[in-house]
Amino acid sequence: MKFGTKAIHAGLAPDPSTGAIMTPIFQTSTYVQESPGVNKGFGYARGKNPTRVALEKNIAALENGKHAICFSSGMGATDAVIKMLRPGDEVITGDDLYGGSYRMFTKIFEPYGIKFHFINMHDVNNISKYVNEKTKLVWIETPTNPTMQIVDIEACSKIAKQHKLLLAVDNTFASPYLQNPLDFGADIVMHSVTKYLGGHSDVVMGALIMNDDKLHEQLYFILNSCGANPGPMDCFLVLRGIKTLHLRMERHCYNGQKIAEFLKTHPRIEKIYWPGFEDHPNHHIAKKQMRGFGGMISIVLKDASLEETFRIASSFNVFSLAESLGGVESLINHPVTMTHASIPKPERERVGVVDNLLRLSVGVEDVDDLIEDLKQALA
Ligand SMILES: *Cc1c(COP(=O)(O)O)cnc(C)c1O
Repeated sequence: MKFGTKAIHAGLAPDPSTGAIMTPIFQTSTYVQESPGVNKGFGYARGKNPTRVALEKNIAALENGKHAICFSSGMGATDAVIKMLRPGDEVITGDDLYGGSYRMFTKIFEPYGIKFHFINMHDVNNISKYVNEKTKLVWIETPTNPTMQIVDIEACSKIAKQHKLLLAVDNTFASPYLQNPLDFGADIVMHSVTKYLGGHSDVVMGALIMNDDKLHEQLYFILNSCGANPGPMDCFLVLRGIKTLHLRMERHCYNGQKIAEFLKTHPRIEKIYWPGFEDHPNHHIAKKQMRGFGGMISIVLKDASLEETFRIASSFNVFSLAESLGGVESLINHPVTMTHASIPKPERERVGVVDNLLRLSVGVEDVDDLIEDLKQALA
């Protein structure tokens, strides 16, 4: 099955009791048993819910994976992966991460005795320099948030396998429409389903996708034990959102390219980050592992103070100033005060997250209106 067909049909069947074409919202916390331990495969809804099972099958198919597990948020999914580790274990990860991942790694898990190395992943051969007998996991994001750095998933996976490390990839920015990390040898794919998969800014959810049965069993045990499970109504909303994922992504990519090209030569722009440009770092790797370049663009305003950056960020009519990304509506975000506020200034500036950086999540509106809006805001 090809992507658009999978988005609409994979894992789904009409409800056997009524023929309802849409997956019902099984709003229940428990299931009646015929006699103790004899049930229809569902015992208690933290562990399993039919609406969630349908969504998990669907998401697994989109990532070309055997299993998926949904969580109540992207951070809930990341948390489960790190909980597989033990005190003393070490993780190698990128120095340009989603701010919330950085905060969880440093503020929650470092005090539990897990060590994180935040390294430059532009050249993945850097990884080997940090591997020792305690290293267990490589955690990458590509494209990165917000500077769109591209990490070579296949090369990373070769290094991880050579040292018997797990490789997890945060695939939120690309979405499964543009990139499937399992196909390049990753062990675990993580999504903030809140973003492109949900697509309508009405749900917070996360997911992990994997092929290995043991890994699935281990991560499912953590979900069921720790309880970061999503509710059935949210699962329904995401199932509904995914039905148009391929259509939305086509338009995100189209609008993204038009806007990136418009901004590239704009006199108010000092620097633009979009992986579709030939001069973008590791563009050739983006071309190899992605099927398109998406609608996430970051810009550095020329000679703009923090006040001027704030003024511009607040002067849009169609773009809304908000955190998050990947929804149908276009958003503008100021990483330094919003998504990346938890990263210390010297660390974020080293990777280019400066005061006059703005991040655009280009939506699926008419691109002419978006360009008009950018013109007036940057005038
Ligand atoms: C939003 C986001 C997360 C966190 O997901 P939540 O659903 O907000 O918990 C993780 N990684 C990336 C790249 C994100 O954009």
